[in-house]
Amino acid sequence: MPRVYLRTYGCQMNERDSEQVAQMFVERGFTITQQSEDADVILLNTCSVRDQAEQKALGNMRHLGKHRRHRPNLVYGFMGCMAQSRGQDLIKDVPHLDLVAGTQKYHRVVDHVEEIIRKKEANQMDDLRFSIVDIDEEEESQNTISSHVDKNFKISEFVSIMQGCNMKCSFCIVPYTRGGERARPIQDIVDECQRLVDSGVREVTLLGQIVNLYGRHEFPKVDGKSPFVQLLEAVHEVNGLERIRFTSPHPIGYKEDVIHAFSYLPKLVDHVHFPMQSGSDRILKKMRRPYKAQRFIEICDQMKAVRPNIAISTDIIVGFPGETEEDYQLTKEAVKHVQFDQAFVFRYSPRKDTPAAEM
Ligand code: SF4
Repeated sequence: MPRVYLRTYGCQMNERDSEQVAQMFVERGFTITQQSEDADVILLNTCSVRDQAEQKALGNMRHLGKHRRHRPNLVYGFMGCMAQSRGQDLIKDVPHLDLVAGTQKYHRVVDHVEEIIRKKEANQMDDLRFSIVDIDEEEESQNTISSHVDKNFKISEFVSIMQGCNMKCSFCIVPYTRGGERARPIQDIVDECQRLVDSGVREVTLLGQIVNLYGRHEFPKVDGKSPFVQLLEAVHEVNGLERIRFTSPHPIGYKEDVIHAFSYLPKLVDHVHFPMQSGSDRILKKMRRPYKAQRFIEICDQMKAVRPNIAISTDIIVGFPGETEEDYQLTKEAVKHVQFDQAFVFRYSPRKDTPAAEM
């Protein structure tokens, strides 16, 4: 039984994708190993949000190349956002790499790995190095984001409710690596949640790049409620489910109906991860984040009024191009006002081909 070592970098979306790929391997008779030295297949699911994350994955892939000395037929592959953005270049840069699978091609990874194993065993590997990175949303919607529920006994699980993002924040590479927004139907998501609960899960985290803008292009508002709130209500009805989380919301989709949902949906946990990015309107504008710092602060205050115990965590970028001491002080003031319970504070990292990289 071939063994697969699968390492994940980056966000929960990647974790969820890795879980799906692992499950597909298990269904084809592979086993999952935590030890790279035992593996027949080594896959790294990569992140492109910061240069450091890309360098880590590249360094690790080069380091893991040493296992070929003892296992010449080992299969090496990159998946995820770096695979999507760098594509064929990775095949050129890392000589032992066999497979590069972009964010919309997870469902084809097992097929390719099986083919590579067969060819390696038959000594026919001459030109068998795959780069599959085109974004084919039609194909993906029928495969990757459709529910693929695993039979495990975890208490908490991620449920991907949408893919992609149309916001195009000037610093962010995600719209280029994950494509435009596509939402799954509410009933599909509810069915997946119910199956997870039936297998022992008690908590789900609904995942999307801009999760609260879920379905804005596909589904209408009903009684003034956004598709996202309709989804929250439907998932709340799932029998046996005890807690619901979601990540990550965008301030522009954080309207009255979302705030109000915390007052009548008790399964929503007392926590929200709410990226602020900057407390300076000038920098938010350069970031192409279409809200004012004051509006962000207001939403936090409204959330605390509805749920006094709510914990709020955030993401902040410092050192964005053109940020002055005054901008930085405005961010500090916003932080002091909101009193976040946790903050992920990152130094700005230029990402190739994004508008901010030119600033
Ligand atoms: S909302 Fe902005 S930061 Fe978030 S994924 Fe979309 S473009 Fe990137």
